[in-house]
Amino acid sequence: MQHFLLSAASRSLSLKKIYKMGESAAYDLFRQIRWPETDGAAVCPQCGSTESYDIKTRRKFECKGCKHHFSVTSGTILHSRKLDFVDLLAGICLFVTGSKGMSAVQFSRTMDVQYKTAWVWCHKMRECLADETDNTRLSGEVEIDGCYVGGVVRKSNYKTDRSDRRLKGNRSPRRRVVVALRERGGRTLPFVRRTEKEGVEIARGIVEIGSTIVADEATHWDALEWEYNSKRINHSEAYSTGNGHHTNWVESYFARLRKMVKGQHHGVSEKLLYQYAEHAAWLEDHRKTDIRGLAEKLVAAAVIAPESKKFKGYWQRAA
Ligand SMILES: [Zn+2]
Repeated sequence: MQHFLLSAASRSLSLKKIYKMGESAAYDLFRQIRWPETDGAAVCPQCGSTESYDIKTRRKFECKGCKHHFSVTSGTILHSRKLDFVDLLAGICLFVTGSKGMSAVQFSRTMDVQYKTAWVWCHKMRECLADETDNTRLSGEVEIDGCYVGGVVRKSNYKTDRSDRRLKGNRSPRRRVVVALRERGGRTLPFVRRTEKEGVEIARGIVEIGSTIVADEATHWDALEWEYNSKRINHSEAYSTGNGHHTNWVESYFARLRKMVKGQHHGVSEKLLYQYAEHAAWLEDHRKTDIRGLAEKLVAAAVIAPESKKFKGYWQRAA
């Protein structure tokens, strides 16, 4: 079976091409990516047997060994899907096409699905793209910085009513900081915290000893100079003083995240900020990969990602 995403026809993947390829080709593709070792032939998720009855009409399999019923999406993030495979693939393609992310509103309009369906689907996709960096550690030159997101206190109309928004007491409790560590030429790892200085402990946990940490003048980063080689840049004086003294890598990640939060989502919940932070990091790290490559990464991640605990039946629970 020819792998569709590897074929010449899909060099630039688009919704048009996906719908042209049709439902059965999309189904074959999901099987191939889920079961690469058997070239798409079903493998029982319960006992590992490759012998099964194919219940073609329902796109299900019955294991000849243990009688377990399963489908290509059983036990994965796409489980209990009600959509056709061609729609699943189109949704994935659309989602990765948004270089500044994808809002559920836009997604639901383009895919012609309910807003709630779009919302859960997008969050599940963010969840599985984040799995890619689960055990990632950083080394070499690693930039660290923080970016405050959300909890904006609006200025009152009259100047006399305005509070000093620099004071801690006047800030919104919803304000969070995304602490990001970015290896130059490597991965970006974001963490949502209340204060930037919590990044010190995070760095100790994921940056290899012997690495160089590049940070700005904020004094809490001084602590890292005991354990790592360090380069500092005082942003009140310059953004770069040459010889690698800058935090431009991590700043371009923050630029993408800010545009995503403001331009696509128009503000996000602090509880779900980590999802958007992961999404922006994934886009940033794969910024040179074309749509086809991105879609393939996401399909592959989706068919191995376990069922989403957090977003499974989210709306049923909330109701
Ligand atoms: Zn079985």
